[in-house]
Amino acid sequence: MLEIKNLHASVESKEILKGIDLTIKAGEMHTIMGLNGSGKSTLANIIAGSEVYKITKGTVLYNNKDLLDLSPEERALQGIFLSFQYPAVIPGVNNTYFIKAALNAKRKYQGEAELDAMDFMVLIKEKLKMVGMDESYLRRSVNDGFSGGEKKRNEILQMITLEPTLAILDETDSGLDIDALKIIANGVNNYRKKDNAFLVITHYQRLLNYIEPDVIHVMIDGKIVKTGGKELALTLEEKGYQWLTDEATVEL
Ligand code: ADP
Ligand code: MG
Repeated sequence: MLEIKNLHASVESKEILKGIDLTIKAGEMHTIMGLNGSGKSTLANIIAGSEVYKITKGTVLYNNKDLLDLSPEERALQGIFLSFQYPAVIPGVNNTYFIKAALNAKRKYQGEAELDAMDFMVLIKEKLKMVGMDESYLRRSVNDGFSGGEKKRNEILQMITLEPTLAILDETDSGLDIDALKIIANGVNNYRKKDNAFLVITHYQRLLNYIEPDVIHVMIDGKIVKTGGKELALTLEEKGYQWLTDEATVEL
């Protein structure tokens, strides 16, 4: 589904991604872990289409086509969803309107009929329940005055409503209390299917008590320095990231 080869990216002539290789197949959940500043959000933003970064080398294929050719809007329409580390507040734009417009744009793109207001309300009410939100959130502006945890739930609400093919969650777990974390993990687990995939970025091993990735990658200084199974998270928890920096130094 996603095939990244030797991706290098810079911002203001500073190289941030220094040769990323990552292949994600349908049905898989991949996790990227790593310290702050290692380039995790940069990678997520580039996949979603941020124009801030300059790609200096490498290729990114999505469903065997060049992803870098597509605008951010086309990427979303083709099923790429990014839950931001810092979700945007959009004052004056109603939350219901926002999600409905995004969903209908996608349905239209796929040649499906758009949902009318009534059908949409039936759908969104069912989705709200899944993330433990009540209907009052539908009347508010997008994320306006939402707490950190409420913003993250709202992101998951968007995800399960839009039903992306590739969902990228950038530290959706950070700053959540344990109840909210479980709700987010539940939303993610219920949405796992054989024809979609996840890239879950996290700083903490804590989330991995609730979701089970197939593959864990560790990113340090713009590179994936280690890839492994679930057990890698436990080793990291025990030894810290220092273990890998030491190892990397030895290999040099
Ligand atoms: P992570 O998500 O792993 O914490 P980021 O991808 O956010 O890391 O950042 C990686 C590095 O790139 C950091 O040093 C950060 O300051 C820098 N960086 C990211 N985005 C920008 C930007 N728009 N302008 C300047 N520097 C940036
Ligand atoms: Mg980040």
